[in-house]
Amino acid sequence: MKAFIMNEERKLVVADMPNPTPKDNNAIIKIKYASICGTDVRTYTKGNEKLKTLPRIQGHECVGTLCHVGALAKELGYAEGDRVTIAPAIGCGECWPCKQGRSNMCDHLETIGWEYEGTFAEYLEVPEKALRHGHLIKVPDDVSDESATLAEPAGCAMNAQMYMDVQPDDYVVIYGSGFIGCVHAEIAFLKGASKVIMVEIAEERAELAQRMIPGIIMINPKYQNTVEEVARITEGRGANVVITALSVPSCHTEAQIIAAKMGRISLFGGIVGESKGWIDSNLIHYKELGVFGVHATRPNLMKEVMRYVEEGKLDLDKYVSGTVKLENIEDGFAKIRDENALKILVEP
Ligand SMILES: [Zn+2]
Ligand SMILES: [Zn+2]
Repeated sequence: MKAFIMNEERKLVVADMPNPTPKDNNAIIKIKYASICGTDVRTYTKGNEKLKTLPRIQGHECVGTLCHVGALAKELGYAEGDRVTIAPAIGCGECWPCKQGRSNMCDHLETIGWEYEGTFAEYLEVPEKALRHGHLIKVPDDVSDESATLAEPAGCAMNAQMYMDVQPDDYVVIYGSGFIGCVHAEIAFLKGASKVIMVEIAEERAELAQRMIPGIIMINPKYQNTVEEVARITEGRGANVVITALSVPSCHTEAQIIAAKMGRISLFGGIVGESKGWIDSNLIHYKELGVFGVHATRPNLMKEVMRYVEEGKLDLDKYVSGTVKLENIEDGFAKIRDENALKILVEP
């Protein structure tokens, strides 16, 4: 089958890969769409030294239908033709974070597109562990293929929001107006935030986000002083919740400055390279700030996203900027880089 892989020379190429083998203890998804994630873009532009087993099919977001259902999957209630997506970060089920229901924090975490073959392919094997721990998720009828594909990245936002616990009347500031920033803004409004402010330097991107989410307030740090603007808009209070949905380390520092007393901060976007020296411990101490990290998502959070979609509270379809064929996947990366594309789907 055709797939987008990292080969033995650590180059990303479209290549022929063996089809997954149907087994009693696995299931196989015929991929309808995969989507390009920030992580994929990072691998595409900066490589990924953590990938050890090569060649490896890339990608971890998808929707498709089951074309093989082994005995175990049948026993678990799956059937051929089921429309499904997968929660790609798979826990062992045995360690203490897993026992707390935090499979994304597993001590032996294995992920689709890393330890397992990824979704940029015609078929995806669902390994036994994923089946046993509920990572193969049936897509409700009222959720489109597009939305189901985006349930994983939106589920990562949901994970961060769990720590933020946005309250009615909260002021929320989000750095970065990409897909993740937009989903954060939508969830913040759903939870009753009184004002959602976005900080975005790219004007076209900012305009796009404002069209998608009426009611957000934009700050452009190229022309405005973010600290002063947040203070003005929040009438001196500061932001109850700050989410950094980008990989700019200075925003981690600024987040602590613009945070209100007792504010909660989510450092959502990881930093490439050196990440020390951006935290001011006295700001955290004297303002009683809560600073939280986030890594990946888990099945129940993706189901929550799809519930929001089903109930008409969250429209993810509108964030799909285009679809590319698998053999032209590099056009997808180019669209993200050059055209402010929010989410690009890849069709095998
Ligand atoms: Zn575990
Ligand atoms: Zn993702």
